[in-house]
Amino acid sequence: MPRSIAIDGPAGAGKSTIAKKVSARLEFIYLDTGAMYRTVALKAIKSEIDTNNQQELALMMDNLNITISHDNNLQKIYLDGVDVSEAIRTAEVSVGASNVAVFPEVRLKMVELQRRIAADKDVVMDGRDIGSYVLPNADLKIFLTASVEERARRRYEELIQKGQTVSLEQVRDEMLFRDNNDSSRAFAPLKKVPDAIEIDSTKLCIDEVVDKILYFYENYSNISKS
Ligand code: C5P
Repeated sequence: MPRSIAIDGPAGAGKSTIAKKVSARLEFIYLDTGAMYRTVALKAIKSEIDTNNQQELALMMDNLNITISHDNNLQKIYLDGVDVSEAIRTAEVSVGASNVAVFPEVRLKMVELQRRIAADKDVVMDGRDIGSYVLPNADLKIFLTASVEERARRRYEELIQKGQTVSLEQVRDEMLFRDNNDSSRAFAPLKKVPDAIEIDSTKLCIDEVVDKILYFYENYSNISKS
């Protein structure tokens, strides 16, 4: 049976940085599921489809061609054969992703792809609904949080380093909008399931969180199955 670790939590809690490191240490594949919703949003924006328009999005999903490659633990995501791994990292796409992620027509297709990848590979998967919906039998479930101020500060610094022009306030507002959207949607919302271990990363450095997860994996994995 392939092994799996689910890491869920709100935006900016450090999921992707930490998931990447954990997967490298365990030699698992890292799957960033947020990138998939971002790619759907990018396609909608490019096709001039409103990311809140369920009907038009449902039609668009029939012609959606998303592929993922893993090279040296680095995930690349392609839309219609073009590498969009960087293009999906804008504020506009973040909000669009949170909008499209509300619709079951979008989610079911993404979940199918995610489960297919986890069916034959050891995987660390991060997102919002991995422990609750995508991989309910994951060997270990982590719910990663941090204060909203800390999450906004981290994301702001990441965007500034990439050369984007944003203010800390803008980043914080966008984060609160997404938190609210992601936790209040009807279908597979962001939530901590009872068998997930919560880690608050506000005052921890990346390696401390990574070490905690590896410790839990060694000592408590399969808690969700027992
Ligand atoms: O993780 P990231 O911030 O890149 O995710 C972008 C958006 O995609 C989230 O705000 C959320 O709305 C959506 N998402 C989701 N379920 C996942 C992963 C991401 O709904 N498993």
